Amino acid sequence: MKFTAPVEKNKNYTATIVDLTYQGMGVAKIEDFPIFITNALPGEEVELSVTKVAKSYAFGRVVKFIKESPDRVNNIDVAYTQTGIAPLQHLSYPGQLAFKQHQVEALFAKAHLDDVKVNETIGMETPYHYRNKAQVPVREIRGQLETGFYKRGSHDVVPIEDFYIQDPEIDKAIVVVRDLLRRFHIDAYDEETNTGVVKTVMVRRGYYSHEMMVVIVTRTHKLSMVNELVEEITKALPEVKSIIQNVNSARTNVLLGQTDRIHFGSSVIHDQLMGLTFEISAHSFYQVNPQQTERLYNLAIEKAQLAGKENVVDAYCGIGTISLAVAKHAKQVYGVEIVQDAISDAKTNANLNGIDNVEFKVAKAETQMERWHEAGLQPDVIMVDPPRKGLAPEFITAATDAQPSRIVYVSCNPATLVRDVQLFMEKGYHLEGAVQPVDQFPQTTSIESVVALVKD
Ligand code: SAH
Repeated sequence: MKFTAPVEKNKNYTATIVDLTYQGMGVAKIEDFPIFITNALPGEEVELSVTKVAKSYAFGRVVKFIKESPDRVNNIDVAYTQTGIAPLQHLSYPGQLAFKQHQVEALFAKAHLDDVKVNETIGMETPYHYRNKAQVPVREIRGQLETGFYKRGSHDVVPIEDFYIQDPEIDKAIVVVRDLLRRFHIDAYDEETNTGVVKTVMVRRGYYSHEMMVVIVTRTHKLSMVNELVEEITKALPEVKSIIQNVNSARTNVLLGQTDRIHFGSSVIHDQLMGLTFEISAHSFYQVNPQQTERLYNLAIEKAQLAGKENVVDAYCGIGTISLAVAKHAKQVYGVEIVQDAISDAKTNANLNGIDNVEFKVAKAETQMERWHEAGLQPDVIMVDPPRKGLAPEFITAATDAQPSRIVYVSCNPATLVRDVQLFMEKGYHLEGAVQPVDQFPQTTSIESVVALVKD
C-alpha cells in the first residue's frame, strides 16, 4: 500500500500546538501526523504552511498566530533563532524552566518510572549574558569584514554584535577586534576558496577575575599589522591579559590549530570556581556558565554526603572541577578522564590550589573503573559527569561491582540519564529523593540534572 501523508508541501493548515520537542520545536498533529514548527508554543493555535514532508512527520512554519501562548515573549531577535544561539528566546523564562522539568518528567514516565519526582528547575536570576567564552566566525559579507554566527545548518554568517547569552564585556571585545581588523584591512577567511586570513575570534573572560583572553585564529602564519593590532586591543580593552594568534591552516571544522603565538601577556588566564583557582589556556575545556556550574556542582557535592573520611571516584572528570572541589570533603579522590590535556590541566590546578589528596588518570572511565576495582580500591562514593551519550554499560557494571554506598550522577542529557538510572536499579541501587534539573544554558534547550543513587 502506498503511504500518503495527510498534509502536502506548501499548503496551509490550521492547528493547535500540543507539545514542544526537546529541540524546542512546537508540535502540531493533523490526523495524528506530527508537524514540527519553529517558533510555536504549546497551547497556541496557528495557521501553518508545510515546508517539508517526510514519511512519518513534516516540518512547517507559522503563517499566522490565531491564539498566542501567555508564555510567549514578543520582541525577539530573529538572528538568535536563525543562528540557534537562543532557540527558546520566544518562551518566557519561567516557561523554559517548566519545559525542562517536564521534559525530564516525561522521559522518566516513558520508562515506567512514574513515581520518580522531578523538582522545579533551578534557574538563573538573570538568564542571559552568562557565557564566559565566545568563538565567532569572521567572514566578509558584501565587501565588509563581519563577526557573527552561523545560520543554523549552514556556514553562512549572520552578523551579530549583541550575542544575548554572552558576557557583554566579551561582546564589546569582539566588536573592538572586528573594528580593528577592518581598520587595518586584515582579510577575513573565505571558506569556499580557502583563502584569506582571520577565521575566528575567540574571547574568554574570567567571571570573578575579569581577566580576558583574545585568540585570533588565522589560516596563515602571517598576520599583517599584528603589532599595531595588539597595541590597539590592549589600549581599548585593559582587562586583556593574553593575546594569542592560533594558526589553523587545515580546512576543517575543528576550531583551533596546534600552533599558538603569544603576542601579548601570558598563554593563560585565571578564574575562580567553587572557591578554587583555575588556569585556563586557549585550548582548555572550562565550564561556560560559572554561576550555574557552581550551583550544579555544589548540589552534587551535597548529594555525596561526605564526612571527610571517604574515597571518592570522579569519573569523566575533565579538568577536575568536581574532584578538586570534593577534595576538601574527602580522604582521597580519584579522577579519570579520556583527554590527556584535560588531565594535565587538572594536575596543574591541583598544584595551584595546594591539593594533594587527588590522583588523576588518563583512561576510559569504564577501563579505569575496572582497574581500580581489581587493584582493591573501595570507593565510598562515585561521582559521574559523562558527555551526552551517558555512561558505558561496562562502567555501570564496574562501578556497581565496587559497591559504593552512593553514586552521584550529573547529567547533560536526561534521555541517557533515565537509561542509566534503570541499569543502576537492576544492579541494586535506587534513587534518593528527587531529580534536580539545573539550568546551565538559559534560552537553549539543554537540560542538566543531578541525582543521587544509593545501595538498596
Ligand atoms: N566535570 C568536568 C566536565 C565533564 S564533561 C569538568 O568540569 O571539567 C565530560 C567529560 O567526559 C569530558 O571531559 C570528556 O572528555 C570525558 N569523556 C568522554 N568519554 C569518556 C570516557 N569514555 N572515559 C572518560 N572520560 C570520557
